[in-house]
Amino acid sequence: MPEGPEIRRAADEVEKALQASMVLEVSFAFEVLQEYESLFANSEVVRVDTKGKAMLIRFNNGYTIYSHNQLYGKWYVRKSYNYPKTNRQLRLAIHNEKKSALLYSASDIEVLRDEEVDFHPFISKVGPDLLNEHVTVKDLTERFTSNRFCKRKWTSLLLDQAFLAGIGNYLRSEILFVAGIHPELRPIDCTTHQIEKAAEAVITLMDRSYKTGGITVDAHLAERLKAKGEKRSQYRHFVFNREGKPCRVDGTEIRKITAASRRCYYCPTCQTKGRV
Ligand SMILES: [Zn+2]
Repeated sequence: MPEGPEIRRAADEVEKALQASMVLEVSFAFEVLQEYESLFANSEVVRVDTKGKAMLIRFNNGYTIYSHNQLYGKWYVRKSYNYPKTNRQLRLAIHNEKKSALLYSASDIEVLRDEEVDFHPFISKVGPDLLNEHVTVKDLTERFTSNRFCKRKWTSLLLDQAFLAGIGNYLRSEILFVAGIHPELRPIDCTTHQIEKAAEAVITLMDRSYKTGGITVDAHLAERLKAKGEKRSQYRHFVFNREGKPCRVDGTEIRKITAASRRCYYCPTCQTKGRV
């Protein structure tokens, strides 16, 4: 399932393709949206924003196309009017002279006037997206320690899109590991040092995962593990999907638990329940 970094990479690809020239045609599969199609002829795409798993394609005609990929949506960028071989249903197509940006399978697509975007039910509720907005360690520590969030477990907060946009299941385990926080804890149980480490881990890991296409270990470690013959699926994470394997830091066996109905991995010695 795609997380924020994967959506931001798709947004980059769509943005690059669509900014290149004037829009020739936009077509929607849903009848209710087809009345908008003529609005987009000869328009230009200004930029493509993301809010977690939602994408906002901003046009210069005062309109924005909102799409949310849910579980199955997938973007393809192809040469103009070339379609991929797929059994998926085409839901939105944006064509210019050189490229077509094609959204398949997504069912959540809307046309909004620019001024309506902030009031959209999903956009208005979702937390900051670190890959689309400038968010600092200070902003995050304030958010983590606010009354609204500080008494909930990290494992539930990190998957809550209203807390932060774009963190999914692998990032949750990886962030807690890098921050040295046990999955049973809440922000209110943590020291200032742990809160800061969590903020730094969120920023670093989202950015790294975005740049590497989903690798959360640092480049140095990735190189070392690759040299040992490990495949991408084996070296890409610190703890996620590594139950029973030795911790990369101290060799302790990685454990797997279920938290907020999803699998969560941690190292019982690097991530203790005590205040550090
Ligand atoms: Zn460890």
